[in-house]
Amino acid sequence: ACSSLDPTMTGMFGKVKPCAECNLVLLGAMGCGKSALTVKFLTKRFISEYDPYLEDIYSSDELVDHQPVTVQVMDTCDQEGPVNCERYLSWANAFLVVYSINNMESFKGCQLYLQTLSIHKNTFSSRTPIILVGNKLDMDRYRQVSQSDGEAVATRFDCSFFEVSACWDFLSVQHIFHEAVRRAKRG
Ligand code: GDP
Ligand code: MG
Repeated sequence: ACSSLDPTMTGMFGKVKPCAECNLVLLGAMGCGKSALTVKFLTKRFISEYDPYLEDIYSSDELVDHQPVTVQVMDTCDQEGPVNCERYLSWANAFLVVYSINNMESFKGCQLYLQTLSIHKNTFSSRTPIILVGNKLDMDRYRQVSQSDGEAVATRFDCSFFEVSACWDFLSVQHIFHEAVRRAKRG
C-alpha cells in the first residue's frame, strides 16, 4: 500500500504523494508497553493502566517530513507469543518489535518475534523494515538488558534500534513511529 499512488492525491496540481498510507504493527511480550507507546503516539499522554487484552488498529493523520500520511497502528496482543501472525504479516509496512529494558523475559520474547518475522520473510516484502524498541528507559535503575545486548540483536536481525520511555517526552516516542514510516517509504 505504501508505494502505491493514491489517485485522490494527484488532484488539480498534478502532485503525486508517494506514500499516503502506512501500516505499522507493534509486536512483543505482554506488558512490555506496546499499548502505552501506541496511546502516547496517538494522544501525547501516558496511560498507565490500559486493557492488557485489547488488540486494535488505530488511525492517525500525520505529517512526516512535511508529507501527509495516514498511519495505521496495529497494537497487537498475543498471550502466547508469536501465533496467528497471518493477521499482520502481509498487512504491515513496518514492524516495531518491543521489549522492556527491565525485563529479560520480554527481551527473549521479542527475539521470538524477530525469528518469526525472519522465517516468514517471503510472506511480506523482505524489505519491510523492522525497528527494535527497548521501552521503559525510565526504569534504568532496574535494567536487565544492556544497551549493547539490544544493539547486538538489532544487528543480527538487521533492525534499527531505539531505547525509549512511554512515560517521558512525546517527541522521542513520535520519533520512532515516524522513523518506521520513513523506512517503510524507502523500502
Ligand atoms: P502491552 O501489554 O505491551 O500493551 O503493555 P502495556 O502498554 O499495557 O503496559 C504494561 C505495563 O507497563 C503498564 O502497567 C504500563 O503502565 C507500564 N508501562 C508501559 N510503558 C512504560 C514505560 O515506558 N515506563 C514504565 N515505567 N512503565 C511503563
Ligand atoms: Mg496492550
